[in-house]
Amino acid sequence: TKFADLGLAEVILRALAQEGYVAPTPIQAQAIPSLLEGRDLLGIAQTGTGKTAAFALPILHRLLDERRRPAPQTARALVLAPTRELAAQIADSFRSYGRFARMSVGVIVGGVGHGPQIKMLASGVDVLVATPGRLLDHIASGALRLDTTRTIVLDEADHMLDLGFLAPIRKIVSRLPKQRQSLFFSATMPKEIAALAADMLNNPVSVQV
Ligand code: AMP
Repeated sequence: TKFADLGLAEVILRALAQEGYVAPTPIQAQAIPSLLEGRDLLGIAQTGTGKTAAFALPILHRLLDERRRPAPQTARALVLAPTRELAAQIADSFRSYGRFARMSVGVIVGGVGHGPQIKMLASGVDVLVATPGRLLDHIASGALRLDTTRTIVLDEADHMLDLGFLAPIRKIVSRLPKQRQSLFFSATMPKEIAALAADMLNNPVSVQV
């Protein structure tokens, strides 16, 4: 399989060529076609498999397709990650793959000032990558609303559980519209995580690598 065969937009293919990506990894080849159709996804995958691009590429494609700008204090797509470092890496990936697509990418993590984040949220973003605690602060203060966010990714769900983020995640998910695309990634499936996946996902495609 080649990236071009998966149906990704030309502006995205150009960024992948610049990254030096020749062919999709197995998780990318398996996940991207279903994600482009708008299906939910349950991915059992470790880091290093190319899972970030497996979700970032189809999300960027669908956002491009919609030709919409984000409204103030909203995000069109939300990615939840367990740590600041992972959130920053995911945001960098979206920026690289979306470099010709004019997508705005924001990061919300703890340990830094609220002011610049509130300012960023005020204009709205296409893609928001966040850790759960600080994201909830911004929702509670009214700096962000999620009622128009149509895409959610939960990355490293099992790691989220270990860090005590299960309740915050459920609170965040309760703010999202029912009609949405949900992507769920975990390296392992302890029963709390399987239950969360069952609650969040609607008829998902399963991919295991
Ligand atoms: P991830 O599993 O998302 O952390 O990705 C692992 C590494 O593989 C990252 O450094 C990516 O830039 C790289 N990568 C992802 N997809 C591809 C691909 N199709 N071809 C070459 N490298 C890739």
